Amino acid sequence: MNDRLSPAAEAAIDTPADASTETIGVRRAEKIAYENNKLHKRLCRQVGQAIGDFNMIEEGDRVMVCLSGGKDSYALLDILLTLRERAPINFDIIAVNLDQKQPNFPADILPAYLERLGVPYHIENQDTYSIVKRVVPEGKTTCALCSRLRRGILYRVATELGATKVALGHHRDDILETFFLNMFFGAKIKGMPPKLQSDDGKQIVIRPLAYVKEADLIRYAEVKQFPIIPCDLCGSQENLQRKQIKGLMREWEKKFPGRVDNIFSALSTVVPSHLMDRDQFGFAALKATGQPDANGDIAFDEEPCATGSGVNPDFATQVISLFPAG
Ligand code: SF4
Repeated sequence: MNDRLSPAAEAAIDTPADASTETIGVRRAEKIAYENNKLHKRLCRQVGQAIGDFNMIEEGDRVMVCLSGGKDSYALLDILLTLRERAPINFDIIAVNLDQKQPNFPADILPAYLERLGVPYHIENQDTYSIVKRVVPEGKTTCALCSRLRRGILYRVATELGATKVALGHHRDDILETFFLNMFFGAKIKGMPPKLQSDDGKQIVIRPLAYVKEADLIRYAEVKQFPIIPCDLCGSQENLQRKQIKGLMREWEKKFPGRVDNIFSALSTVVPSHLMDRDQFGFAALKATGQPDANGDIAFDEEPCATGSGVNPDFATQVISLFPAG
């Protein structure tokens, strides 16, 4: 069990100056239990919200939860099991791990954990490690091929197991990092969707942790003492570009609290008519209707919210009306 408290929570422990060591210990334990319970509730709420918003899980679904042994997929399985108990619909869960035969992979950890939970599971043994090592030249990054092989195998396994949904443990920070990677290095506005069709067209892939912050998953893994399997057994280096983006987001969050949350919200509030993708908006056919349009362009004016100037749009409209046309 996690016995750490944030400095703020530590300071909030209300103990009289003459309290005994025992009393302080009890208050501290109560506070820790309270914080941990709050975290669990938050995760359940956010996962439930994402599932509802994107209609991720439906009556009768068989959800294949991909379990890598990392903190995110453990949390995903754990929260989905909790939500299944409370859900108004029935759905099955099957955990799947792909043992890629990486050196020193502790093959007994996941089966033992899943047996303890009583969750149906399947371990798929496929030596992708050797393939990747053989095919990719020394010194080149192996992740692209490794991921492609893994994806193909997991989709096949999902079909064989009769899964109707494939659940992955990507979280809010993964989604943001992918968004920036695509923009900075791929020149595309493209993120990582909470729900999508697999590239073979046979599966629906879902990301129920889409609203969950990585920091909460780190803490949750400590609270639950998940038996984490290190993710660097293959010897591959972490993607340098992703590392840079992570650093950038950390820096923003420190200097401008709330900025990362705003960027994440922006992913759900896209205005194609104010971008430049001709496939997303019919610029060529655009004609003036002669009718006022609240979403129409305000041409030379700055967006009030863009600068944080606090200009009330109603006030702006009143000012404009002082200068009637003609
Ligand atoms: S870190 Fe290793 S196991 Fe993970 S995707 Fe890259 S090559 Fe594969």
